[in-house]
Amino acid sequence: MYDRLPTPYGLVRYGVAPDHPEVKNCQHKFDELSSDPRFKFYGNVYIGSPPDNDIWHSYSYPHALHIPISSLFPYYNNILLTYGASTSNPLPTTNGSSYSARPAGNVLPALAFVSWYNGHPAYAHLRPKFEDVTDATIIGHGNVAIDCARILLKSSDSLAGTDIPEPVLDVLRSSRVRHVQAVGRRGPAQVAFTTKEFREMLNLEGVEYAAIDKALMDEAKSMVEKEGDRARKRLLGLMDKGVDRRKINPSSKVFELGFLKSPAAFVPNPSTGDVNRIQWSINTLLAPPAPPPLPAPAPPIVPSMSSNVTLSSTVVARPTGEEIETSAGLVIESVGYRSENIAKNDGWALPFDQRRGRVVNDGGRIVDESGVMIPGLYAAGWVARGPVGVIASTMQNAYSIASLIISDHTSSHDAQARSQSAVLPANPKAGIPPEVERSQQRIVKLDDWRRIDEEEQKRGKLLGKPREKFTTVESMLEVLD
Ligand SMILES: Cc1cc2nc3c(=O)[nH]c(=O)nc-3n(C[C@H](O)[C@H](O)[C@H](O)COP(=O)(O)OP(=O)(O)OC[C@H]3O[C@@H](n4cnc5c(N)ncnc54)[C@H](O)[C@@H]3O)c2cc1C
Repeated sequence: MYDRLPTPYGLVRYGVAPDHPEVKNCQHKFDELSSDPRFKFYGNVYIGSPPDNDIWHSYSYPHALHIPISSLFPYYNNILLTYGASTSNPLPTTNGSSYSARPAGNVLPALAFVSWYNGHPAYAHLRPKFEDVTDATIIGHGNVAIDCARILLKSSDSLAGTDIPEPVLDVLRSSRVRHVQAVGRRGPAQVAFTTKEFREMLNLEGVEYAAIDKALMDEAKSMVEKEGDRARKRLLGLMDKGVDRRKINPSSKVFELGFLKSPAAFVPNPSTGDVNRIQWSINTLLAPPAPPPLPAPAPPIVPSMSSNVTLSSTVVARPTGEEIETSAGLVIESVGYRSENIAKNDGWALPFDQRRGRVVNDGGRIVDESGVMIPGLYAAGWVARGPVGVIASTMQNAYSIASLIISDHTSSHDAQARSQSAVLPANPKAGIPPEVERSQQRIVKLDDWRRIDEEEQKRGKLLGKPREKFTTVESMLEVLD
């Protein structure tokens, strides 16, 4: 297993919120597996090329060994790509958005904000400004948006016993945020967050949840009622428990959901350059466009809609032409993660769907432009299926792809296919690529990672928390000197 960081665990370490330690229990699976002597970990090895350089991806992993993916090929007969999604979806039509030519200050992609509060070395330098901010707006209605809202609203004291890094906690202690709004382009029936995550928002100490407009809720309820979607009905029931604004205690912090709005512009304060207003364009919901008629004769296999695709989930937002303005001193854009083609400058073309942002694969087998499998090359997790799904579904996917690799490997078809494909050999060379073997950069092997891990836990114990993470690669490598 190769990873660009000295640490394993991916988003379980750098995505899952610090106040959800039980979710991180799946790390034990890695610890269990890694005790098998046949397993090798090579951390601090960057495979392929980093995402295109922009202000959010300026970190170049300077301490890592960088090697093209093709340099692995002679040494393995199967390679599985599980490099996740390391970039964000932009808001292409919003002036002042984080990916625009002139981003307003204090407008951050959720990926950057989450990576920062989780101590990811590529974002340790980020310093969101909280001191003068009372109103924060999150764009998006997914679980990541809810994580961001919770971290902004929770008292820093209640986060102190988690593995949130101390420098992050210091910044959060300076926060004056009182009001957090999560806004989506569609209505209450279309939110993407789940019941468990939302229920937690209702139980936050010192935080009141503001009621949603009754007419909007009634419309959503009747839409969901017609579909008989009981889980969504339960969620709407919880979303309906908001407190009438006039009755909100002025000393409480407020969490609010906003609907049917798309950000047109994040407008900066001319003297600071930081966002202070949001211009919104108001939307209305429309039924999805009718699917194109089936060509005649009908194809033998008609793709079926998966059972969780309902009419309410497919309605689309259309601007009404109306605009409104709200104030916000911090904006977090939480509209999804994207995978990158890591083999862009490799001299070998990884089949990559740029539009959907994922490696082209057929049920985990990487396929070329004609849909033909490239023997020995596989993809799993977010890089294969897009940035959706929780750890449980990602693990299920991993288990099924592992079985697929084994069954392909033992099939007689494999040797024949490989003889026609020069990508991965049937009989690889022994050992690991010489670049890794003789690297000037420090390769972090399993025992090295265990030392870093122990040191983090030791530092955490002194502070009464599970671990105090190193937030720079330098400090991780110093442990190994
Ligand atoms: C903010 C956030 C919160 C979440 N919270 C929860 C939760 O509470 N519960 C839950 O069940 N699920 C949660 N998820 C979903 C869960 O994290 C994912 O389902 C899962 O981590 C995806 O696994 P993956 O292996 O595809 O990718 P990742 O976990 O992202 O792993 C990718 C790994 O590849 C490495 N890598 C990337 N590029 C390279 C390269 N070029 N060379 C070498 N290594 C590379 C990365 O360093 C990383 O270690 C959350 C996701 C996010 C974004």
